[in-house]
Amino acid sequence: LELERLGVHDSVEAVFPPAELAAFLADLPAPVDVIGDGEIATCDAAVTLEHREAFLELDWVHSIQAGVDRFPFDAFEANDVILTNSTGIHDRSVGETVAGYLLSFSRRLHDHVANQQERRWSRPEWDEAFTLPGKTACVVGTGTLGRGVAEVVGSLGVEMTGLRRSSESVPGFEAIYANDDLHAAIAEADFVIVTVPLTDDTRHLFDADAFDTMREDAYFVNVARGPVVDEPALIDALESDAIAGAALDVFEAEPLPENSPLWELDEVIVSPHCAAYTRDYFRDVGEIVRKNVSRLDSDAEFHNRVV
Ligand code: NAD
Repeated sequence: LELERLGVHDSVEAVFPPAELAAFLADLPAPVDVIGDGEIATCDAAVTLEHREAFLELDWVHSIQAGVDRFPFDAFEANDVILTNSTGIHDRSVGETVAGYLLSFSRRLHDHVANQQERRWSRPEWDEAFTLPGKTACVVGTGTLGRGVAEVVGSLGVEMTGLRRSSESVPGFEAIYANDDLHAAIAEADFVIVTVPLTDDTRHLFDADAFDTMREDAYFVNVARGPVVDEPALIDALESDAIAGAALDVFEAEPLPENSPLWELDEVIVSPHCAAYTRDYFRDVGEIVRKNVSRLDSDAEFHNRVV
C-alpha cells in the first residue's frame, strides 16, 4: 500500500474539528487534508465518522468510532478496502460518564439540576438518596468500554460482574457470566450497563423479557448502540415501574425524536451520544492512524482491523 494522500472527512466535525486531526498528523510521509465528499477520489485513504459510497474506491478507511455498524462490511471486502476502527481508546471517558450517571441516581444530582432550572428549593425524600459501596453492577460486554466502566465504577465500591462470549475471568470483574446466561447475570444487579457492539447477535438483546428479569429497583444504562435495546419495551418497563430508571446515551433513532417519551420520564437521563467525548479525542484517534500508517509499507497486520 502506497499512501499518497490521506483525507480527514469533514463528517468527523460532529466529534472534533477535522483540522485538529490533520494538523496532528502533519508530520506523516504523505499530505493529510480535510476533505469533503467531492474530494474523496483524490485520496487513497480516509479517516471518517460517516460512511460514503466513494470510500469503496479507496485502499483504507479508518472509523473514528469503535462501533462500525454503519459500514457495509461485505462491500468493503468485495472491493478490497481495509476498514479499521477506534476501539481501545474510550475506556476512561465512557467509564467516567457511566460513573457520573450512577452518582446522579444515587446522590440525586439530576433532580437538583432539574429543580434549579425552576428556581425550586426541593430536597429529596428521606429514602431516595443512597451510596454506591455494596451495590452490584452487571456490565454486558467486557471489551474496552466494559473494562473502563469496571475500573472507574469499581473504584467507587460497586461490585462488578460481567457478561462476555466465554465465561473466562476478566481483570476488574468479581464474576463473569457467559452470554447464554444473560438473565441470570442481570437478575440481581442494581445496575445493568450495556457495552456490547451492535451485531446480529446483540440486536434487541434487551427486550421485554430482559426488563422483566431485572429488579424493580434496578437502573439500566446503555452506552453501546440504540438497537441493542427494544426501545418500546424499555419505555414500557420505565412507565410501569418494572425498573427504577435508565441513563441512555444511544437510541434507536438519533437524534432522539422530539416526541419520544424518554425525554420526559422521571428517573431517565438522556445524553446525546457523547459518552466518549473528550478534548483529547482527535489525539487518541490520531495515534491509531499513525500506528497504521507506519505499517503500510511492511507486511504487519493493521491495528484494529475490522475488514
Ligand atoms: P471492544 O471491541 O473493545 O469490546 C466489545 C466487547 O463486546 C468484546 O469484548 C466482545 O467480545 C464483546 N461482545 C461482542 N458480542 C457479544 C455478545 N453477543 N455477548 C457478549 N459480549 C459480546 O469495543 P468497545 O470499544 O468496548 O466498544 C463497544 C461498543 O460500544 C462499540 O461497538 C460501539 O457500538 C459502542 N461505543 C459507544 C460509544 C458512545 O459514545 N456511547 C463509544 C464507544 C463505543
